Amino acid sequence: MIEIEKVRKSFGQLEVLKGIDLTVKNGEVVTIIGGSGSGKSTLLTCINGLEPIDSGSIKVDGQDVHDKRTNLNKLREKIGIVFQQWNAFPHLTVLENVTLAPRKVLKMSKAEAEEIAVRQLRHVGLGEKLSTYPGRLSGGQQQRMAIARALAMSPEYMLFDEVTSALDPQLVGEVLDTLRMLASEGMTMICVTHEMKFAREVSDRVAFFHKGVMAEIAPPEELFGAPKTAELQQFLAATH
Ligand code: ATP
Ligand code: MG
Repeated sequence: MIEIEKVRKSFGQLEVLKGIDLTVKNGEVVTIIGGSGSGKSTLLTCINGLEPIDSGSIKVDGQDVHDKRTNLNKLREKIGIVFQQWNAFPHLTVLENVTLAPRKVLKMSKAEAEEIAVRQLRHVGLGEKLSTYPGRLSGGQQQRMAIARALAMSPEYMLFDEVTSALDPQLVGEVLDTLRMLASEGMTMICVTHEMKFAREVSDRVAFFHKGVMAEIAPPEELFGAPKTAELQQFLAATH
């Protein structure tokens, strides 16, 4: 379970998160939508401890992410994160890119890491690309490699930050299909997305961020069907 309570965060004078409360239960898929600069990415980076918070708390399985006594590296192994773009190591094959973290961080043997990496690469539909170099993959394949790389650490939680927004439209579908598959397998996920159709289909709940505030959160039928705030109404009108 991820428990976010009263989280505030500023960059200098700019308050980016203004008291966020959100609990994500295991197996739940929460998507976050909202305008540019509303704090979506910042929240994800705070959840896995990449960014400190000013007040409030974020707990993952009861462990406080920002408590100095927490072993953050250990906790982060539970939380996979995939960004818009991931710079793969160009001189390493797809398989080598995916085995890197399990070998270095989890100290797996080469054979063990490869077994897991192959399984995850097949899972995302890249079983034929093991010895290809990342530069020869399409954008969609590169994103699926990034997902496989995160999954190779056997995370309990996955955070996705606009993983399709740098892709050509015809490549978006294959990446969203991979996310749908993970969701249907029961992965606990927080997905920041601009894909409203995807958010509608895959989410247990959708959160709408506006200027650092979680202005609405509801199951998709309710959030999209009956937006309560003028801000969400405007946002939806502009994105359709
Ligand atoms: P987008 O949809 O464009 O990705 P977002 O909702 O993810 O937007 P954030 O990236 O969380 O927005 O940024 C929120 C605000 O915080 C923005 O005004 C941004 O300029 C600012 N910000 C983000 N990261 C930093 C940083 N490291 N230093 C200073 N300001 C930052
Ligand atoms: Mg962002």
